Amino acid sequence: MKRVLVAAPRGFCAGVDRAVETVLRALDIYGPPVYVRKHIVHNLQVVDDLEARGAVFVDSENDVPEEGRLVLAAHGVEPGVHRRAAARGLTTIDATCPLVQKVHAEVQRYAAAGYRIVLIGHEGHDEVIGTAGQAPDAVVIVATAEQARSIELPDTGKLAYATQTTLSVDETAEIIAILRARFPAIVGPRKDDICYATTNRQRAVKQMLREIDVLLVVGSQESSNSRRLVETAQAGGVPAHLIEDETDLDEIELASFGTVGLTAGASTPEWIVLSVCEWFRAHGVTDISVFGDEKAEGVFFRLPAGLARVPEAFAGVRAAGGGSP
Ligand code: SF4
Repeated sequence: MKRVLVAAPRGFCAGVDRAVETVLRALDIYGPPVYVRKHIVHNLQVVDDLEARGAVFVDSENDVPEEGRLVLAAHGVEPGVHRRAAARGLTTIDATCPLVQKVHAEVQRYAAAGYRIVLIGHEGHDEVIGTAGQAPDAVVIVATAEQARSIELPDTGKLAYATQTTLSVDETAEIIAILRARFPAIVGPRKDDICYATTNRQRAVKQMLREIDVLLVVGSQESSNSRRLVETAQAGGVPAHLIEDETDLDEIELASFGTVGLTAGASTPEWIVLSVCEWFRAHGVTDISVFGDEKAEGVFFRLPAGLARVPEAFAGVRAAGGGSP
């Protein structure tokens, strides 16, 4: 190992930043316990940190004591969750990413107009459960190009598509092209619903592929956009590994690779990336630099109503130790 190139942009997106800060702010204002439905974002270290501060993670709104305070995760939920939470007297704070809410609104609009909706996404993923739940009778899920080729749908002129926000840009384009060829009347967003953060992180990886011999993606196994970054490198002929943090590096044979690329999924805080860089320094790599545009992406989402933004409150979670790669 001679050098490490750290991709930019990488790591936390505006939706994850908002969701984490929502929990911290709720803890700050109301005190523990604040209940959080599912993992607020798909990163175990972030979840552990919030738990240590008084957040209680639950699988379902039914697990929250009556009249408790419940934060809904960035991936969004189906409407029944809101109904059941209200029936239990819970105070709900919705941290669903605004870009996921936009897809929910699309699906609701098409369903109300009598459309059948092809939702391109991975069945069982939290976001897809929430989006499909906006109109369960109208939505059919398609995950692969093969399924897009074989699915039987009436081409009645009332057919639409929507997508999960964290998919592979290239695979999704292929699936949409297949659907458009098979069902010329299908309507949908101009391109897809893949969000800016997913798109930018995949593009940054593609741009660095010619410079690197292997890619490391810092992210959790459950993080869809992190897994897509691994696939982006592999599709370009570069081996890639998903790691939770630097402790996973002892399991990977890196010695034969000259240049290692490093990136992080949209739910990975920067302090884990910095710890990975420290691991490389401790193993004798001194040439560590940023590849790409390190400037902020300039996307910012307001906190849910009633929660004012207090940056110091989340400094420990987001970027403990500060610094740069
Ligand atoms: Fe929102 Fe995209 Fe981040 Fe998901 S990955 S929380 S859609 S900005």
